[in-house]
Amino acid sequence: MEVYDQLMSLKRNTADLEDQNRELKEKLRFRSEDFDFKNPFWYEKRYPDRPLCPKCRSKQVAAPVGAPYDNGSGVFRRCLTCDTPLEEGPSRRSGTGSYQDDGGPSGWMGR
Ligand SMILES: [Zn+2]
Repeated sequence: MEVYDQLMSLKRNTADLEDQNRELKEKLRFRSEDFDFKNPFWYEKRYPDRPLCPKCRSKQVAAPVGAPYDNGSGVFRRCLTCDTPLEEGPSRRSGTGSYQDDGGPSGWMGR
């Protein structure tokens, strides 16, 4: 009976180790070459059209970000997990001073 108990506890230990092993493999996978950094987002190479939050990635979480939105000062995407707004690029809205004020033929657009 004692031997049986020992066997059972050994089996439990093995299961624990397997769990830990799986966890470590998971972490290793996360650090491997499967990811690309294209400022300011991370991309899993399998999903190149799904930007991931760099803040969450540092916590080993592959967190996708939401659709881009333009708030006038820049184009942002908000992380769906930690809610951090991440600037993707400059604002594409007109009237931010990118037009030359020369009164030329392009003057009708901005104003
Ligand atoms: Zn995040």
